[in-house]
Amino acid sequence: MAELAKFIDVTKCTGCRGCQVACKQWNGLEAIKTTFSGSYENPPTMGGETWTKVRFFEAEDNGKVRFLFRKTQCMHCTEASCAAVCAAGAIKKDDKGMVVLDQNKCVGCKNCVLACPFGAVGFSEKTGTSGKCRMCVDRIDNGMEPACVKTCPTGAVQMGDREQILKQAKERIDFLKSSGVNAQIYGENELGGLHVIYVLDDKPEVYGLPVNPQVATANLFGSWVSALVGAGVMLIAPFWLMFKDPGKDVSETHDTGVK
Ligand code: SF4
Ligand code: SF4
Ligand code: SF4
Repeated sequence: MAELAKFIDVTKCTGCRGCQVACKQWNGLEAIKTTFSGSYENPPTMGGETWTKVRFFEAEDNGKVRFLFRKTQCMHCTEASCAAVCAAGAIKKDDKGMVVLDQNKCVGCKNCVLACPFGAVGFSEKTGTSGKCRMCVDRIDNGMEPACVKTCPTGAVQMGDREQILKQAKERIDFLKSSGVNAQIYGENELGGLHVIYVLDDKPEVYGLPVNPQVATANLFGSWVSALVGAGVMLIAPFWLMFKDPGKDVSETHDTGVK
């Protein structure tokens, strides 16, 4: 099957956060109550109950401040560190290139949380497992778009065949460049190719993206495991798995009206 990808054009994003709400509703994720912390971002961080979030940035342009928005989520990396370090085999890549975390198999060791170079996976106290964007594979398998794509009122988020998405992204970049914008693509080659392709109107670092993301190495992972064993996490993991309720599907979806 042809690989799929999500296309995020930051130049069309208005920061409305409809995508955040749709993701929480479709995936039955908890609303996070926050108090004002000096940032307009809400919730303040990604996490096990927040699988996508719009980040806000400011950039100065000829003395004027520009407000920038970027929808963040799992990038569905070809070289996926989270899958490589998951000892429980809970994270698998599917034939469409999506990296899917099965919360019924997750033992909550948090190795993936430490390994992800994008901070896209978090731990949920509610479920006792890690959680991240699943690219709405349940919706895709039933002929629907991901909930965040369906909701986005400006067309800033789209989904399709990866080759087609790359072509569309490059055409958009050509158009923006012809209008004098410093447009750039992100995700074509990083980590073997991401399945989230961005069109940016500034350098990746301005949008909080790592310039050269790296796969978690064996040495790095070894030091993480040592730290986790030191904290007793790895020792309890097998017992947690034994006593976990096998009938509880924490990843079940809910009918929210997003069709
Ligand atoms: S962005 Fe992070 S969580 Fe998503 S596939 Fe890549 S390493 Fe895994
Ligand atoms: S694809 Fe689905 S799970 Fe991923 S961010 Fe969008 S709504 Fe959430
Ligand atoms: S729904 Fe679309 S326009 Fe609104 S914040 Fe999300 S990506 Fe941006």
